[in-house]
Amino acid sequence: MFPETKNIPLQKIEDTFLKEKEINLYVLRLDLVHPHISGNKWFKLKYNLEEAQKQGKNTLVTFGGAYSNHIIATAAAGNEFGFKTVGIIRGEELEASPLAPLRGRGEQSAVNPVLQFAESCGMELKFISREEYKKLRGNEPNYLITQLPNTYFLPEGGTNELAVKGCSEIVSLIDIPFDYICCAVGTGGTIAGIISSLKASQKAIGFSVLKGGEFLKTEIEKLVTSSVVEKQQFELNTNYHFGGYAKQTAELLSFISDFKSHHNLQLDFVYTGKMMFGIFDLIKKNYFEKGATVVAIHTGGLFQFANHQPSH
Ligand SMILES: *Cc1c(COP(=O)(O)O)cnc(C)c1O
Repeated sequence: MFPETKNIPLQKIEDTFLKEKEINLYVLRLDLVHPHISGNKWFKLKYNLEEAQKQGKNTLVTFGGAYSNHIIATAAAGNEFGFKTVGIIRGEELEASPLAPLRGRGEQSAVNPVLQFAESCGMELKFISREEYKKLRGNEPNYLITQLPNTYFLPEGGTNELAVKGCSEIVSLIDIPFDYICCAVGTGGTIAGIISSLKASQKAIGFSVLKGGEFLKTEIEKLVTSSVVEKQQFELNTNYHFGGYAKQTAELLSFISDFKSHHNLQLDFVYTGKMMFGIFDLIKKNYFEKGATVVAIHTGGLFQFANHQPSH
């Protein structure tokens, strides 16, 4: 169903600071995989949509916040590969009434560019309160299944076993030898896939974008599918969350804008900007040995910088 991803650019970052520190830094441009099924979300959805098709399900149902990249990617993928999609969106500020009765398309118009885009892809939006959302989280809501027959459920953020399987293919896109691979961590599904396909000499560093993200370490360890990977081949860095999920500081924003002007590469402030800030800070602190090759994964998340016409 998903075409093979080939020739994903591995962009070398040229910088006098990196030269001084003798670090070879590359960025794997997964942000270029697809205009809307962007970055890591392509790999997370790939085997799930194949499984949905195998099970004869014609509707994808998932959850997310009003700015979720997973909602964008699921809406676009449904549109492209022929699934109906339903997005259950968190936030009583969007829709005052709780889930029952379910509100359908047309009764509530989309209120931000992400939700507008999702609707333009044909996604049916259902708004629920934060309280209700918390209860749904991670579970297949039975009462929804009866109301939405023939559906395939994708968990929040899209992380499940099949997502990890898809993300384990990311490492094979890197056609140079490397020592470290770095990735922003939200739920940990992406880095779990990456860790699952490392060689013994390679190390992965995840950068938590959540405040209090220490719990993610065990979550990730549970998701890793390879039994050969050693615990010390993976590290979760929790020092670069900048106040928490989607929080930003002037220092972070100025780093992102400098990075863009020096390397012509756009980062976002929710995920990749925090990771790259962390990588540069670790290099400054001589965390990596001289001569090391570091690959950073550009997981996408650039919706606000792109043009939003779905491909019908
Ligand atoms: C969703 C997302 C992540 C986090 O992926 P997880 O598998 O949830 O850890 C990282 N970067 C971007 C740009 C994302 O959209």
